[in-house]
Amino acid sequence: MSSQPLMNTYNRLSVAFERGEGVWIYDTDGHKYLDALSGIAVTGLGHAHPAVTRAICDQASKLIHCSNLYTIPLQQQLAEKLCAVSGMDNVFFGNSGAEANEAAIKLARRYGHQKGIDLPTIIVMENAFHGRTLATLSATGNRSAQAGFEPLVSGFVRVPYDDVDAIRQVAANNPNICAILVEPVQGEGGVHIPAPDYLNQLRAICDQQEWLLMLDEVQTGNGRTGRYFAYQHNAILPDVVTTAKGLGNGVPIGACLAHGKAAELFKPGSHGTTFGGNPLASAAALAVMDTIETEGLCEHAAALGDYIVDGFRTQLGDAPYIRAIRGKGLMLGIELTEAGTELAVLAKVKGVLLNITGGGRVVRMLPPLIMSQNEADLMINTVSQLIRVYAGDERSE
Ligand SMILES: *Cc1c(COP(=O)(O)O)cnc(C)c1O
Repeated sequence: MSSQPLMNTYNRLSVAFERGEGVWIYDTDGHKYLDALSGIAVTGLGHAHPAVTRAICDQASKLIHCSNLYTIPLQQQLAEKLCAVSGMDNVFFGNSGAEANEAAIKLARRYGHQKGIDLPTIIVMENAFHGRTLATLSATGNRSAQAGFEPLVSGFVRVPYDDVDAIRQVAANNPNICAILVEPVQGEGGVHIPAPDYLNQLRAICDQQEWLLMLDEVQTGNGRTGRYFAYQHNAILPDVVTTAKGLGNGVPIGACLAHGKAAELFKPGSHGTTFGGNPLASAAALAVMDTIETEGLCEHAAALGDYIVDGFRTQLGDAPYIRAIRGKGLMLGIELTEAGTELAVLAKVKGVLLNITGGGRVVRMLPPLIMSQNEADLMINTVSQLIRVYAGDERSE
């Protein structure tokens, strides 16, 4: 056995957690941390939410797994609920964001072939993140994540994010385009929020060109930005939307939703999965969706997100080392003028979990949707002070 039994895929911080409750998580030495990252937008209901725990325990005692060769009533119920909340027509369930996006990419290719395009091509964005499987890595706009894994999957062309003219240019020059795949807010890329009418413009182009508009809501979905799905801020319907992270509050599940012509593309045998939409994951996701609805967590995320952005702007807004403070609901980013990679470790020492993204310059927070205003104040004050000390503006106490 190797001295390092885990493959070397993460630079992990030296802390291990053993339990959590709400926004709090406790390490093996009993220290308590404010989880302002939610396991990267996963535990939107906080840790050990009783409704999710109950759903998982009840279901585990009845039936955890059932093949998709059979009817799975909980999966059907979950699909109905997702369609009702999204305005979409049907759903394919996988186990992760990457799998949800793989399904979307396959839908787009099938759609292209149906239109007589032999080499269907999807427009993707600079700085996009869509996952780590070969197709989703190829769609991802991060050269360092791709380097060494060539040959990449073909059939993608890349344009700058939030640049409608660049897409019009591709439309005029590339007859193989059949779809656009885009995040409504770029998460891993550094919490980039496009112009308010960006998605409306993309919808108009897709209608005109007869392309599929495919939204990657793996991170932005499930209430994160203050609506169930981020496209609902724009009053449009995509043809395909994918989600995962927050859907199971930690139980792995991914979903690819389709509408209209995109909902008719798969036939039995077109796509499949062993685990996707199993009774356990479906029960957990149903509990998550019920809780988001009954506790009004989308509205809460919208209001608390505005409050937090205001708080950070008051504390840090004028400082010369701050480039921008961005937020949509509880997707929050503080962009520094210089790299601040060490801030994740320093925040951990101060009892707050967050991460650094966007090329090392964006302090990212994705707090649970259930966060209270007092907990938000604690996060704003701790993180603001940390950044001031780090920038040399203030001495540590
Ligand atoms: C996290 C993420 C993915 C990948 O999800 P996995 O569950 O890690 O495969 C895809 N797209 C976006 C926008 C993400 O944030």
